[in-house]
Amino acid sequence: MQSNLTITCPFCSLLCEDLNGSEINGRLYVQTHGCDKASTCFAKPPPSPLARVFDKIVSREEAIAEAAQLLRRAHLPVYANLDTDVDGVRAVISLAKRTGGVIDQIRTPCASVLALQSSGCITTTLTEIRNRADLIILIGAQVETHFPRLIERCLQRTETLFEKEATQPDIVVIGETSHISQATTIPLAEHFLPEFIAMLKALLVDVPLQAQQVGEVPVAELADLVERMQQTHYGVIAWHTESLNTGHIDLVVQALCELVKAFNKITRFAALPLEDGITARQVCIWQTGFPLRINFSRHFPEYNPWQFSSQRLLSTKEADTLVWISSFAQTQLPDYDIPTIVLANQLPESSRPPDIFIPVGTPGLDHSGYLFRVDQAVVLPLQQYREVGLPRVSEILRKIEASL
Ligand code: SF4
Repeated sequence: MQSNLTITCPFCSLLCEDLNGSEINGRLYVQTHGCDKASTCFAKPPPSPLARVFDKIVSREEAIAEAAQLLRRAHLPVYANLDTDVDGVRAVISLAKRTGGVIDQIRTPCASVLALQSSGCITTTLTEIRNRADLIILIGAQVETHFPRLIERCLQRTETLFEKEATQPDIVVIGETSHISQATTIPLAEHFLPEFIAMLKALLVDVPLQAQQVGEVPVAELADLVERMQQTHYGVIAWHTESLNTGHIDLVVQALCELVKAFNKITRFAALPLEDGITARQVCIWQTGFPLRINFSRHFPEYNPWQFSSQRLLSTKEADTLVWISSFAQTQLPDYDIPTIVLANQLPESSRPPDIFIPVGTPGLDHSGYLFRVDQAVVLPLQQYREVGLPRVSEILRKIEASL
């Protein structure tokens, strides 16, 4: 048993580093500052360390040899999900180079990367928001579900760097519901978001509008919001890209970035795109010069966000082997009838078991490591709190590469 541990939580990309708790028999019990998600994930019993090949229990070495065998035969392996730490992503890139594979997260839309590439975006950090923002607009009710302590950490202030007495910012939620008590909610159905953004911009530049409302929201309410946004000293628009419930997410994100730019002609405004699994993208940029959706089959990194979408490659059967990496939570394995190697802390949900399953540890629980925080501004170190015989993703991938 270890007590009074200071813990950095790896279970969402806010990476709260102020948790306190105790370890008893391989389970971590969070006592202070943990949200429900952190308490549940840390308190789970350690997963089984037994590897499987075609659903039969085998030694880890046998599973590694079988995985190397599958990759040796593959013409275009896809490395997907990529939920691991900095060292794990580096090992994925190295193995993808060696096997001529494609790396892509599969689930995260690359919308904010596309917006950044096509017209740029003014972004901010959690520290800036905590110390300076006086208005934050959250797009979609899902933000608080995916990042449970965002409000507590950034917007419920007891002190700031620049004010003698901390003032609380205004919070506006654009979405059908919100559980944030201090927020003003504008009840917009999310599929009206493109029109909503366009109308805010039109009102800002005094374009006459014929419409009286967008969805159920009267234009007068939008005009009030624009006025409030113009009066702010430091405004922020935040959204969780993956849960934006609207079509053409890349265009919606680009419109949000353009709205932020437009308000910067009057006052200071910034965007905070909230995304999961940010570490894979950041390490990929640092190692190759490109974000995810890279193909190494021609022995150099080729980037194309449409051509090398793993979903497209798997559904057209251009890819012939899937390597699925998931160190933090149980995931849903996509249903494709091709050889599949899974490195995960729990067997993923799927209609058929993977050909090879090698259990791995969770960074920040079973081993130390580093992760990028959601604002991409800092990389935080993670500690090991228990020893249950689960290896790192990087250790397994390097052994597979050495066996090729
Ligand atoms: S908000 Fe995220 S990082 Fe913070 S304690 Fe909860 S799950 Fe962990």
